Amino acid sequence: MPGKVFIETFGCQMNVADSEQILGRLGQAGWSPVDTPEAADLVVFNTCSVRDHAEAKIRSRLGVLREQKRGQPGLKIAIAGCMAQREQADLLKKWPHVDVVVGTDQFARLPELIERLDVTGRIAATDFGDWEDDFGANAVREPGVNAYVPVMRGCNYNCTYCVVPNTRGREKSRRPEAVEAEVRRLVGEGFKQITLLGQTVDAYGKTLGDGSNLAGLLRRLHAIDGLLRLRFVTSHPKDISDELLDTIAELPRVAKHLHVPAQSGSDRILRLMGRRYGRDEYLHFVERARSRIPGVELLSDFIVGFPGETDAEFEQTVSLMEQVRFGGAYVFTYSVRPGTPAVRLPDDVPEAVKKQRCNRLLALQLDHQSEQFRALHGQTVEVLVEGESKTDPDMLHGRTMGFRHVVFPKREGLVGTLHRVTITRSTPLTLFGE
Ligand code: SF4
Repeated sequence: MPGKVFIETFGCQMNVADSEQILGRLGQAGWSPVDTPEAADLVVFNTCSVRDHAEAKIRSRLGVLREQKRGQPGLKIAIAGCMAQREQADLLKKWPHVDVVVGTDQFARLPELIERLDVTGRIAATDFGDWEDDFGANAVREPGVNAYVPVMRGCNYNCTYCVVPNTRGREKSRRPEAVEAEVRRLVGEGFKQITLLGQTVDAYGKTLGDGSNLAGLLRRLHAIDGLLRLRFVTSHPKDISDELLDTIAELPRVAKHLHVPAQSGSDRILRLMGRRYGRDEYLHFVERARSRIPGVELLSDFIVGFPGETDAEFEQTVSLMEQVRFGGAYVFTYSVRPGTPAVRLPDDVPEAVKKQRCNRLLALQLDHQSEQFRALHGQTVEVLVEGESKTDPDMLHGRTMGFRHVVFPKREGLVGTLHRVTITRSTPLTLFGE
């Protein structure tokens, strides 16, 4: 019997998008969302497995729920997402108070699985499947300026440190007309910026076998009236074609910003990571992007402390950052993940060294950003206004065509519009303007 549902989402934007789907489908089946697990009849954890730290958080939540269920035997508990896909039915053995384990391709079935618990008993549904034709149609999204739209799932690379191939399966793309229909609906609902999601989003369309690709999809969506900005994440340097770069340069509403994880600056480490490119190839991608898209902003990810990474190899990552001067970078310390090829390598870089290397890269990136931001003082930039500043109610915030965060004095009627702001000062993370 449907009742009140509480959902907690862990991890990436793809999980946020999946949770919007889960809530939509449960809503269709009569479930109504509540803000706390204590008020719920059904608790859903949409989980992340990218690092042990993420799974540890979920394990502690499940511990708390065990106590709640003692006092509320009718409470239903479901685990969805990457941890569910990685551990599958083992989770039912480890956590006897969990009722349903639902994998990354099966969450659309959650209402039916809950409904049938009396018949099936506790159940795990973790087969990989295909896109539902009506994916996106039921998503429950907070109203706003930005909406995230998954266009593909899974990944055909097999980077040795990564859980995604195990937890999201092989690449599969949504049909372009299905994506277009969803984006038209979202623009009709007032969203102004759409971010297309995929683990290696530039490989979009390959599985469709009809010549579809990301450049074509961008062109198709760019024609939608009312859409102000189009973005996509996350890219793999091997999949970025000149056609895609030229399309980004040509289409005025496509953001001039690429998130392309380099991960390391050392050829030996990149080989051990299974990234399928070397330092020079990555630098060649940077050159192609900058020559074809003037002013393009490049964001990267880096993993430090990968098994066997020497001081000298770490210095090669430092020198890559100094050579490229990224617009932004996310830095992670290596974390052993069960089921990944790298689990066979000794995790021999001490935690303290991993931390030092991580802090060094973060500090270097902030230096580069401060420099780039200072160079923008006195210049006027176009900002898509997203809403009130989180730290100052008298200010508004938004992003440039790159990905720069800008804060400026509030004026009525600006949210959801493109607004020109003259930069007057900055911190390493934020531009301030008039
Ligand atoms: S390309 Fe990205 S998602 Fe795919 S295996 Fe490598 S790190 Fe994981």
